[in-house]
Amino acid sequence: MTSAGGAAPTNFIREIIQADLEAGRYDRVVTRFPPEPNGYLHIGHAKSICLNFGLAEAFGGRCNLRMDDTNPSKEDAEYERAIREDVRWLGFDWGEQVYYASDYFEQLYAWAVQLIRDGKAYVDDLSADEIRAYRGTLTEPGRESPYRDRPVAENLELFERMRSGEFPDGAKVLRARIDMASGNLNLRDPVMYRILHATHHRTGDRWCIYPMYDFAHGQSDAIEGVTHSVCTLEFEDHRPLYDWFCKALGIHHPRQIEFARLNLSYTVMSKRKLLQLVEEGRVAGWDDPRMPTISGLRRRGYTPEAIREFCARIGVAKKDSTVDLALLEHCLREDLNRRAPRRMAVLRPLKVVIENYPEGQTETFDAVNNPEDPSAGTRPVPFSRELYLERDDFMEDPPKKFFRLAPGREVRLRYAYFIRCVGVVKDADGRVVELRCTYDPATRGGDAPDGRKVKATLHWVSAAHAVEAEVRLYDRLFSHPNPDRAGEGSFLDHLNPDSLEVLRGCRLEPCLAGARAGDRVQFERLGYFCADPDTADGRPVFNRTVTLRDAWAKLRKKGG
Ligand code: ATP
Ligand code: MG
Repeated sequence: MTSAGGAAPTNFIREIIQADLEAGRYDRVVTRFPPEPNGYLHIGHAKSICLNFGLAEAFGGRCNLRMDDTNPSKEDAEYERAIREDVRWLGFDWGEQVYYASDYFEQLYAWAVQLIRDGKAYVDDLSADEIRAYRGTLTEPGRESPYRDRPVAENLELFERMRSGEFPDGAKVLRARIDMASGNLNLRDPVMYRILHATHHRTGDRWCIYPMYDFAHGQSDAIEGVTHSVCTLEFEDHRPLYDWFCKALGIHHPRQIEFARLNLSYTVMSKRKLLQLVEEGRVAGWDDPRMPTISGLRRRGYTPEAIREFCARIGVAKKDSTVDLALLEHCLREDLNRRAPRRMAVLRPLKVVIENYPEGQTETFDAVNNPEDPSAGTRPVPFSRELYLERDDFMEDPPKKFFRLAPGREVRLRYAYFIRCVGVVKDADGRVVELRCTYDPATRGGDAPDGRKVKATLHWVSAAHAVEAEVRLYDRLFSHPNPDRAGEGSFLDHLNPDSLEVLRGCRLEPCLAGARAGDRVQFERLGYFCADPDTADGRPVFNRTVTLRDAWAKLRKKGG
C-alpha cells in the first residue's frame, strides 16, 4: 500500500485514512483542529496542528480550525485571537472561515430533542454527587436513576423548561439512555446537557444549558463533514460513545483516531497549569519566552520551520512518552544555523585599551554574515583603540586548560589582529576594570607572517561604536525533568529560580542599532538571539533563544 504525501513520513493514521479511501468509506479527507479557547496554544497543540493540517494536505483535503467553545465561563475572545495568530504563524491555512462549536447550539439542541423522542435521552433530577454515586465503578455496575423511565412527553417538556431558564444550575441534567451496566463507564448514561446560567462570550445570555464535550464534539465533526477526527489518547474510552451518538442520530459518522499526546521534559503542558503560572506572576505572561506556548517560543526566537521539523521528527504513536527538550532545541539550532546572520556582541564587557594603536583612528574589517550562506555577504565592523571583550575571556591567574586572554598572553581578535595583554588595571577593591594590550600590525586579518600560533580567537566590539543593549538569558523554567510527577508537592516547587538573568549594559556591534523585534541573529560564540518586542529605537533588547552547545547531537554521537 502506498501512502499519500510523497516525501512526508508515513504513520499509522495515514495508513488508516488511506485504507478508508480505498475501501470507499469516505471519498475525501476532512480533519479539524479543535482548541478550546481557554488559554494559549502550546507546543503540544503544535503537534496536533501539524498532524491535522498535514493529513489534510497529504490527501488533498481540508482542515478546519474550530473553536471548541461550549464552556461559557472560562473562554474569551482574547484567547481566540491568539489561537488564530499562532496557527497562522506556524504556517497553516484554515481557508475561508473559522468554525465555532457555539454556532451549532441550535442544531445540538434539536438533536437532543430527537434522542428524547426516540427514547434515547431523559431529564434526570439527581444531583451531580448522586449521579456519581449511581455510576458504579470499574468492577461494579451502576444503578439506574429513578427518573430514567420518565415518559417522552415529560422529558420533552422538562428539557424545554431547562432551556427557558426555569431551573437553577445543577437542578437537572439531560442524560443519554444507554446502559448503566456497561463495562465502559462513559456509556453509563452520560450527561449530555447541564444547566449553567453563565454568559458566553459569543452567544451572550441566549443559552443557560450547555452541551457536554461528548455531545458536542462528535456532532460538530459531523456537521462539518469531518472524516477523520484525530484526538489524544485520553479519548480512546470515549470512542464508543462518539460512535453511539452518531449512530443514534443517524448522522454523518466520522472516524475517531487517537494518538499519544506530546510531553516534553522540563515542561508542563496543561493549560490550567500554564494559566496558573501567568496568574500568579511566576512568568511575565502567556508569551514569556520561558513558556512552552507557541507565543512564548515565538518571542524566544523559535522559527515555525523548527517547530514543524520537530513535530515531523517526533512522529505519531499510540503510546505516551516524553520527548527530550534537547531535540526541540536541536531542530531550532539546525534551522538558525542555516539562516541567522552572525554578529559580535559582548554581554559582560571588559574594557581593553590597545596602547600602540593610534588614538582617534578607526579601521573597518569585513565580517562574514553567514558561513553557511555565501549569498548573505559581509558587513563592515569598525575597530579602534578601545574595545570591549567578554569578561569571561580573561583570567588574571588562569588554570591549565584556560587558553584565552591572560597577562603576557597573545590571542586573536576575530577578523582583526593578534593582541597581547601587557597590563591589568584594578579598582580600589582589586577588581579588574581594564586591560592594557598591544597589537601586532603584521597580523592584520588574523594570521602572523612568522607563523606563530595563538590558542584562542575572541569576539570584541569597538567601544566608541558599540550599541548598548539589554540581553535576557533564559534557562529551563523547571529544574526537574518531570515537574508534574516529581513526588510530593506541586509542580510549582520545581520552578527553576535561575530561569531568567537580565544583563544590562551589553555592547553590540553597530549594525545592530537598527534591530527590530523578531530579528534573529547568532552572537558569535554565545548563541542564537532574537530581538524582543521591548526593543525601542536604538535600544535593542535581545532574548537568548538557545546556546550553541547541542546536547542532542552529543547524545546521538555517544550512540544514544
Ligand atoms: P490541555 O490539557 O493543555 O488543557 P486540551 O486537550 O484541553 O489541553 P484543547 O484546546 O482541547 O486542549 O486541545 C485542542 C487539541 O489539541 C485537541 O485535539 C487535543 O487533543 C490537542 N492537544 C492538546 N494537548 C496536546 C498535546 N500535549 N499533544 C498533542 N495534542 C494535544
Ligand atoms: Mg480539551
